[in-house]
Amino acid sequence: MVGLFRGLLDLVFPPTCKVCGRQSKQTLCDRCMDSFPKIDGSICLKCGKPCQREVGSCRECAHKTLHFSRARSAGIYAGSLKEAVHQLKYKNGKRLSPHLARFILGVAGDFIDDIIHDIDVIACVPLSRYKEAKRGYNQSRLIAQELSVSLNKPLSNCLIKTHTTPEQNKLGLADRPRNIKGAFAVKSPIYGKVLLIDDVYTTGSTVSECARVLLQAGAEEVFVLTVARTPFAGG
Ligand SMILES: [Zn+2]
Ligand SMILES: [Zn+2]
Repeated sequence: MVGLFRGLLDLVFPPTCKVCGRQSKQTLCDRCMDSFPKIDGSICLKCGKPCQREVGSCRECAHKTLHFSRARSAGIYAGSLKEAVHQLKYKNGKRLSPHLARFILGVAGDFIDDIIHDIDVIACVPLSRYKEAKRGYNQSRLIAQELSVSLNKPLSNCLIKTHTTPEQNKLGLADRPRNIKGAFAVKSPIYGKVLLIDDVYTTGSTVSECARVLLQAGAEEVFVLTVARTPFAGG
């Protein structure tokens, strides 16, 4: 009966891709998935920025104190990928999370292969309690959950956001590290090497601050993996 109802509903309101709005049985159509701007060339091994050749650190990260060992993003936060992340975050696009996780696994396989044997646990950047209650979910945790299953590593919810900070994207680049400092805490024991998941890497200050508290709480090393990375200088 449910199947029949679903079928009728699909006839009247054909399912569409969340990103382009075209008719599609999947939440994200293949055309959109293929059009995501990928980061699959040479990168900075520290922060994941696309570079002309592979480097150990780059102009954007060399002068910063970044507490994670390495960060890698699967795509550029632009075009259809930016729209997909936006839908995931603000338009109740929860069903996009498996597709975005698949995108990460497809593009960042090199990075994952390098570190996965060392990883003990997967964690994600938390939202404040208020924001998570308002949104109904944490988009980074949804992606982390998918990766936890695919990579067969336990997911830890040890990180919490202790107070609400203004959204990083509403601040100038220079204000971001100060804004986020002291915003996170670790509520349960953590050990070993951690793979930290977030949706978008911008200046790195959020994931670096999370890495700092994880290390302080006992983690041995922190790696960062995000869906996307902002394209502008300073990111
Ligand atoms: Zn589409
Ligand atoms: Zn770099």
